[in-house]
Amino acid sequence: MVQSSASVIAAPPVAPQAALQPASVATRSRVGKTLSIVAPCYNEQEVLDLFFDRIDAELARLGVDYEIVCVNDGSRDHTLAVLLKHHQRDPRIKVINLARNFGKEVALSAGLDAVTGDMVVPIDCDLQDPPELIGQFIEAWEGGADVAYGVRVDRSSDTFVKRLTAQGFYKAFNRMSDVDLPYNAGDYRLMDRRVVEVLRQLPERNRFMKGLFAWVGFKQTPIPYARPERAAGTSSFRYWKLWNFALDGITSFSTAPIRIWSYVGLIAGLLAASAAVFLVLRTLLEGNKVPGYPSLMVVILSGFAIQMLAIGSLGEYVARIYQEVKGRPLYVIMDRYGFDRAQGPDA
Ligand code: UDP
Ligand code: MG
Repeated sequence: MVQSSASVIAAPPVAPQAALQPASVATRSRVGKTLSIVAPCYNEQEVLDLFFDRIDAELARLGVDYEIVCVNDGSRDHTLAVLLKHHQRDPRIKVINLARNFGKEVALSAGLDAVTGDMVVPIDCDLQDPPELIGQFIEAWEGGADVAYGVRVDRSSDTFVKRLTAQGFYKAFNRMSDVDLPYNAGDYRLMDRRVVEVLRQLPERNRFMKGLFAWVGFKQTPIPYARPERAAGTSSFRYWKLWNFALDGITSFSTAPIRIWSYVGLIAGLLAASAAVFLVLRTLLEGNKVPGYPSLMVVILSGFAIQMLAIGSLGEYVARIYQEVKGRPLYVIMDRYGFDRAQGPDA
């Protein structure tokens, strides 16, 4: 029998070989489990009726109890009124109204903090995340996945520039950071309760959710799907916002941009030293044609190298301070075998 930490209650003694089974062979059942949907909504009045039609139809056939937590992220239109209308109709639809627009990442975090389900699905309410995928997510979860995440098989609904910049971003991010972002995965996914608990514990304020989703680890299974155009309304992500989003992502998960300067300084130092040798030799062999030039060049080049090295060593310290103040847990435990609750905290 495999004990997962989420279900450890006075664990009965287990046979040694059984206790060594990997968590991946665990199969679960949706019977008696609950599903929480989290939908951040910003100026979505046109699409919400359609969204609830589609998602209600899908959830009705899944055979689980569910709640839909909608987070109104300071919309300027009638999104809140439409959400409350649906809440009146069905109390399983719950509404969190943020005091202003905090951005999708924060709205999503507010929703994740409020959910109670054993499985949690963040979803865009513009129907770009087809609700019909939730059934497949649950099947993957039943097969042992802790996270089943949607992967876009074609990005033809995106412009050429958006595709190109997205690809460049994934490449740069994965090269610079320790966590690997899966290509073409968004926030649309199903997460086991344990994963959500870990996400809630992450204290950082700069919440690049794609990165945090990858950082937590656990058994993650991709589910391919074609991403449609948004059903109505307009996207609120413009290029400037996306650029800032990319900067947030890279700076929260990589210290490369601040640490690179030591290496620039080192290379500049080597170049300065070779230039100095060359200039001195030439002056000795050919005489000093332009008085002052060799000595000036040597001073400028080595001064530049020293400055870069100094900035780089500051970078090394600032990077370490940054790691510390983020206050992320050092590690995440996925399963615990042979412990009972009294012996330690439950993940
Ligand atoms: N959203 C939000 N706050 C914002 C911007 C967007 O809650 O400040 C929500 C929006 O309502 C939608 C999701 O985030 O459900 C994705 O936004 P959008 O469709 O504009 O982005 P895109 O799909 O173009 O990346
Ligand atoms: Mg969208």
